[in-house]
Amino acid sequence: MMQFKPWAITAIIAIVGVQWACVSHEAGAGYSGDTTRKDTMTYKIQKTEEEWKQLLGDESYRVLRLKGTERPFTSEFETHWEAGTYVCKGCGQELFTSDTKFDAGCGWPSFYQAMDKTKVKEILDNSHGMQRVEVVCSACGGHLGHVFNDGYGQPTGLRYCINGVSLGFRKKP
Ligand SMILES: [Zn+2]
Repeated sequence: MMQFKPWAITAIIAIVGVQWACVSHEAGAGYSGDTTRKDTMTYKIQKTEEEWKQLLGDESYRVLRLKGTERPFTSEFETHWEAGTYVCKGCGQELFTSDTKFDAGCGWPSFYQAMDKTKVKEILDNSHGMQRVEVVCSACGGHLGHVFNDGYGQPTGLRYCINGVSLGFRKKP
């Protein structure tokens, strides 16, 4: 018959606690705020696949609607430093401003924050054997890219790594 040992219970709680903390940290990698595990949201802007294809063209359709990734260093916006606003190519919603754009050297346009929290939606993404946080347009659900916590030297410490083909640009008047 096993004797009741209070220290054993404490040890088990401590071990489980540490493991849980690790799991929690992993789940939040790249983003410390609120994430939605599954994208079950209905977006304000709805179109058929055919309409999206017509509107966007092949490459933007592949990225925005099929969650693809553009080849690095191919976007005109990667080295684009004009003052203005970056908008969703799918629906025109304003997403990022030029003063939060920085040169991350990663091959994709990078921003340290969205224009405001309502413009983008962040979703936990477990595809391709990685745990990442996907960034989509909150109005049309179009895939923009991912957010990582390696925005070194940036005010938020975040790097919104965004596909240029998902964006449009409005020059500051
Ligand atoms: Zn959009």
